Amino acid sequence: PASEKILSVNNIEVLYDHVILVLKGVSLEVDKGGIVALLGANGAGKTTTLKAISNLLHSERGEVTKGSIVFEGQEVQSLSPNELVRRGCIQVMEGRHCFGHLTVEENLLTGAFTRKDGKAAINRDLEMVYGYFKRLRERRSSMAGYTSGGEQQMCAIGRALMSRPKMILLDEPSMGLAPQVVEEIFEIVKDLNAKENVSFLLAEQNTNMALKYARYGYILENGRVVMDGDAKALSENEDVKEFYLGIA
Ligand code: ATP
Repeated sequence: PASEKILSVNNIEVLYDHVILVLKGVSLEVDKGGIVALLGANGAGKTTTLKAISNLLHSERGEVTKGSIVFEGQEVQSLSPNELVRRGCIQVMEGRHCFGHLTVEENLLTGAFTRKDGKAAINRDLEMVYGYFKRLRERRSSMAGYTSGGEQQMCAIGRALMSRPKMILLDEPSMGLAPQVVEEIFEIVKDLNAKENVSFLLAEQNTNMALKYARYGYILENGRVVMDGDAKALSENEDVKEFYLGIA
């Protein structure tokens, strides 16, 4: 039997400014408990796909003009981004948007804004986040703006975790970070997936690293999925090697 899907994106088109067709019929699925990589070069449409899912296109004059997006069995296109967060789907934006003038801990606490279950539960989750991101505990009282790029990325993921998500849409976590730090972050993603049962859709230009951690991958080119498959099969595919892994 087919495994249960937490997310299905069905043949979506996205237009910017009413005329610029950027996604030309993108379909993808994420299994419940899965880690799926969304791969492709700069400008292929990865960020647009994630923003379409979390309904964040309006501020960029973009809109989904065709297709459907189903999260946990329900169409979600008419939901606000906050409502989607309440239902358990949250995006971590590219560029690790932390509030630079707030401490790491204050940043994490802002992630709990959609919750109504009180201080004790929120403090428990803060401890959960520090359990995964040891570095954040050490830096809890530092201004986020003065922490390293890796710590800011961890802070952005940690903040998302404070909403108790079932699924995180993670946009280019490796950007601008040293390989060792990227690995550290991906190891934590793997742990969160295994122990907290968080599903991930991971947009990455770092194909190598993404395919090491994801179980399945989609390759976007010019607003279309041109290839998809198990991570292992993709990483052994000659075209993928030549165009995306740089080891041909
Ligand atoms: P990146 O790694 O740069 O984020 P990406 O694969 O995520 O790349 P998108 O950011 O989704 O790609 O961009 C896809 C295409 O949409 C690009 O050609 C880009 O120029 C265009 N685009 C993105 N945002 C807008 C916008 N607000 N208005 C018009 N075109 C846009």
